[in-house]
Amino acid sequence: MFKDVIKSFMLTELFKGMALTGRHFLSRNITVQFPEEKTPLSPRFRGLHALRRYENGEERCIACKLCEAVCPAMAITIESDVRDDGSRRTTRYDIDLTKCIFCGFCEESCPVDSIVETSIFEYHGEKRGDLYFTKDMLLAVGDRYENEIAAQKEADAKYR
Ligand code: SF4
Ligand code: SF4
Repeated sequence: MFKDVIKSFMLTELFKGMALTGRHFLSRNITVQFPEEKTPLSPRFRGLHALRRYENGEERCIACKLCEAVCPAMAITIESDVRDDGSRRTTRYDIDLTKCIFCGFCEESCPVDSIVETSIFEYHGEKRGDLYFTKDMLLAVGDRYENEIAAQKEADAKYR
């Protein structure tokens, strides 16, 4: 009790706190100035989805619906039809990102590397509907980031 009164009178706790602040004041800064600076991402990070095309512009997706069947969140909706050339393609491919749990099962199940999860995390929605991605939106992501997606796929293949 008496010790506590002396400690309080001598401002011991205050000086201890200031010493701690002083030590950290001179140490390396661990905060980053986002978005100009970014922290490293794990190669296993799963971000925004994309639908890819082949080099000739043809959609990779063959409407097998494996991704729709495997999705545990039932976030994927696919409708399909047969084209004039006899090939089957999706007429609708939607992902509701408000349901998605980013498990990666859709990407793993795809036999033609069509649906992928990119490392993009800088996207947002201001209302629920903004995170409902249609086929056109997913293809647009794929078209824009194809080089990065292909490079990531190549890097992943080395770990298999
Ligand atoms: S990442 Fe998982 S939850 Fe999200 S769409 Fe793909 S399978 Fe469904
Ligand atoms: S994205 Fe892949 S798994 Fe899904 S329907 Fe198309 S081809 Fe099949």
